[in-house]
Amino acid sequence: MISSNNLTFKEELKVRGLRFTAQRKAVLDAIIQNDGKHLSSEEIYDLVKINSPEIGVATVYRTLMLLENMGFVHRIDLDDGKHRYEVSRNEEDHLHHHLICIQCGSIFEVKYDLLESLEDQILKENNFLVKNHSVKFYGFCGYCMKNSSSGEIIKPLTSRPLNR
Ligand SMILES: [Zn+2]
Ligand SMILES: [Zn+2]
Ligand SMILES: [Zn+2]
Repeated sequence: MISSNNLTFKEELKVRGLRFTAQRKAVLDAIIQNDGKHLSSEEIYDLVKINSPEIGVATVYRTLMLLENMGFVHRIDLDDGKHRYEVSRNEEDHLHHHLICIQCGSIFEVKYDLLESLEDQILKENNFLVKNHSVKFYGFCGYCMKNSSSGEIIKPLTSRPLNR
């Protein structure tokens, strides 16, 4: 989807009676060009503003909602109070998982689903067909693990509550 995204986006807008504008294109492009970074809506706004200084924050947020409704992007919630976005990937039936470092806040991706046997079991035992999931793992990244081996006590970031 990534290569022909703008063409498809143009067609989708037309279907909804909306215009394909440079501003709308810029919002999608910012997400495509920064895929894997899980940009927040604020970060996307800051990026788009560089080349489109006249764009308003409301336009960016409305475009993000539109892109999500159209299925071009996924909104992900990583428990930091921000709306983050990433490109929907055609090759993924189910959303990939995210690893969140509770020390430094870094976000990593697990590229594989790995949950197929659990999904089979849920279908058998709960008679429930899993269509998607949003899995977050909390822990320490390699960098923070290494730095903690000095005996320092690691205090989790208070802005990332674990039990929610
Ligand atoms: Zn799955
Ligand atoms: Zn870390
Ligand atoms: Zn991701």
